[in-house]
Amino acid sequence: MNIIDKTVKKERDSDNISNMVSENDARNAIKTLLRWIGEDPEREGLLETPKRVLKAYKEWFAGYNQNPKEILSKTFSEVDGYDRMIVLSNISFSSYCEHHIAPISGKVSIGYLPKDKVVGLSKLARLVDVFAKRLQVQEKMTAQIANALQSNLECEGVAVLVEAEHHCMCTRGVNKLGTSMKTSYFTGELKKDIAKREEFFRSIS
Ligand SMILES: [Zn+2]
Repeated sequence: MNIIDKTVKKERDSDNISNMVSENDARNAIKTLLRWIGEDPEREGLLETPKRVLKAYKEWFAGYNQNPKEILSKTFSEVDGYDRMIVLSNISFSSYCEHHIAPISGKVSIGYLPKDKVVGLSKLARLVDVFAKRLQVQEKMTAQIANALQSNLECEGVAVLVEAEHHCMCTRGVNKLGTSMKTSYFTGELKKDIAKREEFFRSIS
């Protein structure tokens, strides 16, 4: 089994796992956690909490049901030979770290060098959410955004910079408020050509 087959199998397995859990089981799991922290899930203020948490989870983890290929399927080729870098900076996102299910919030800047076709700007923002609305590791999310754009747009190169605050580090553990993590990932010409990478960083600064 090659890596792609293994990934697909893993994704299918995780789909099956989530499908096997009933809404009721998921609500009971939240109640268990509430009891574990010392709460009474039957008191008035918490009666509806498990239901609300699941509703919020559906939004926070909506990315598992979204496909980057579909989002990037509509492209435009009437660009009169435009071949310079296209940059969208400061796309805000919120995600959850897969180690603590704690919030990660920050912004993403994306640049790409088109080849014959471009994609609508809002699609770049939606692409960020496909991967942000999942349990994440920032390094992985950075690479996923870049690789999805590169493979679906078949462009000359992609640059992605992510800057984010991790609540698992700011509000617990080492408790360092105000720290932010930066990750970047490049493909194609932007990986090879330092001048093009500098052009990307200049345009987002
Ligand atoms: Zn964490």
